[in-house]
Amino acid sequence: MNGDEVVNGGDYSRYFDGVMTSVASLTDYGISRERYEDYISAPIRERDVFDFDGTLFLDSGGFKFLGDGTLDGSDFEVEVDQKAIVEIQRRLGGDVLVNLDRPIAPDDDYPTRVEKARLTAENVDEFLDLTSRDDTRYLTLHGYNYSMLDTFLTEVEKVIGRDRVHREFDGVALGSLVPLKDNKGKLITAVSDCREVLSDWGFEELPLHVLGISSSAIPLLAAVGADTFDSSSYIHSAINGKYDTSLYNSEPVDDVDFTECDCQVCSDEMLVRRMKG
Ligand SMILES: [Zn+2]
Repeated sequence: MNGDEVVNGGDYSRYFDGVMTSVASLTDYGISRERYEDYISAPIRERDVFDFDGTLFLDSGGFKFLGDGTLDGSDFEVEVDQKAIVEIQRRLGGDVLVNLDRPIAPDDDYPTRVEKARLTAENVDEFLDLTSRDDTRYLTLHGYNYSMLDTFLTEVEKVIGRDRVHREFDGVALGSLVPLKDNKGKLITAVSDCREVLSDWGFEELPLHVLGISSSAIPLLAAVGADTFDSSSYIHSAINGKYDTSLYNSEPVDDVDFTECDCQVCSDEMLVRRMKG
């Protein structure tokens, strides 16, 4: 997008601190082995088309690889385990790395969820061995409420030990929320309970990333403790000339009377000119 004609060819890199992608995005569309190998042949930041120097956040792609089973149509298969994921994350030149995980589903029973937490914990153990403190490492958590998240962390602690849980991570990424994406009440419970669990476990300082949730839930989730999101919906909305008037409503930017809003953006003449294109 940066420098592309579709957004008027401008350099917008200073508006972004980082970009996020996922190992899964390599294989989402059933690409050929040749193309896959081309994608991992050089770090993203060193490519001419990538005119950006911000942080690169690289999700593991656990959801697509293990939870979703949509890896059809390609002419090859990548043997996906924690080691392969770290290898791909390294080749792409990621700064913020996420362990391979086993997402839960709303109809998983208790033993299934505990088993998935245990399998994720084994990946976390390997992930910590394969990476170092020079990396920025995010621990994935899966659960929809306090009790589920507490159980998840307990399983991780059992496998990797109390010290390691507490020392090694720079942030937490809350996953498995995509099936709840249209239920704002459940999303709010998951994120606010996650903050509470993190606080009770002594992790209150860690930034909390919410994986895979976009749209109008973002301001609500930020209000209950989420720090970052991977969503391009607001960028798409802006490209399409939409001006948000509330959490749920927008109108075409051409129809907007900017004097009706006293926020910092609408009060700034230069920013208003930019919104008008
Ligand atoms: Zn405004």
